[in-house]
Amino acid sequence: MTALLDVVNLQKIYPVGGLGKARGQLHAVDDVSFSIAPGETVGLVGESGCGKSTLVRLLARLHDPTAGSIRFGDTDLADMKARGFARRPERAAIQMVFQDAGESINPRYTAFEAIAAPLRRLRGLRGADLQRRVESLADATGIPRALLGRFPHQLSGGQKARVGIARAIAVEPRLLILDEPTAALDVSVQVVILKLLMELRERLGLSYLFVSHDINVVRLICDRVLVMYLGKIVEQGPTAEVLGRPAHPYTRALLSAVPELTLEPPPPRPRLGGEPRSPINPDPRICRFFGRCPDGRPACADSMPRLAPVGPAHAAACHFA
Ligand code: ADP
Ligand code: MG
Repeated sequence: MTALLDVVNLQKIYPVGGLGKARGQLHAVDDVSFSIAPGETVGLVGESGCGKSTLVRLLARLHDPTAGSIRFGDTDLADMKARGFARRPERAAIQMVFQDAGESINPRYTAFEAIAAPLRRLRGLRGADLQRRVESLADATGIPRALLGRFPHQLSGGQKARVGIARAIAVEPRLLILDEPTAALDVSVQVVILKLLMELRERLGLSYLFVSHDINVVRLICDRVLVMYLGKIVEQGPTAEVLGRPAHPYTRALLSAVPELTLEPPPPRPRLGGEPRSPINPDPRICRFFGRCPDGRPACADSMPRLAPVGPAHAAACHFA
């Protein structure tokens, strides 16, 4: 099957601090490659600051990449400037749902206007056609029509999340990028919104790239998982494989931090010591996890491990995986 999205050697470097030679280079996304098949849900996990949001914002072309390619269908989106992208048909095909729907929706827009905006801009809908389409999107996402006239501050967290989703699916995307879409919600509301997302995925045949630091959510809804650490993908594979038989020490540490519902005494857990390495001017020879890795050996400071197969469709970037 040909990929819907094919990302190759993608990189984003932010210049930080100082002047001239003192200026540092922050490697937010470093040499990242992966693909997403039509209809597939791929999870992206990793601790705060590892580059998840930067990566997905590159894919949605809200930022310009430093290097690499983002193939979507027949086009390389990386070649386009973020500004030019806004007018391309691919703009409709890739849509984003943000963590805080309240902040990503213009406070001066009613729910109706928030959902209508992309339909006006990308589909040219007006008048009765626009009204009908917005109402059918409200129905599909469980927003009572009576709420369409309300402003964001008059809506609950769950209702705002629904508006964010309705707006994202309005222009019939093929890929929905969700950056921690339920992180700001109460647990009971999270469950309802996740169910809605799973239902829409089936009904509309969407692919999802789902960013989350909640491993249990990823376990529930993702076909495959990418594990990110300091700008790099350190492990990837089918969800059951990666979460069931993690090959990278970082993935194991991430999983051991997940609370389990059990009455058994917990097994001994690998603890992460040390400080994370800096993402600024990282030494390309040293494994990014070295210093914090419970299994670190001298070889890890001599050569950066690359992603290598550890099973069918399962890969890890560790010399000792
Ligand atoms: P995550 O979403 O996984 O928490 P981010 O993508 O937000 O991570 O951040 C990745 C790294 O890039 C962090 O070290 C962050 O401080 C840095 N970063 C993000 N945006 C910028 C920016 N505009 N300028 C400089 N550094 C940035
Ligand atoms: Mg983020």
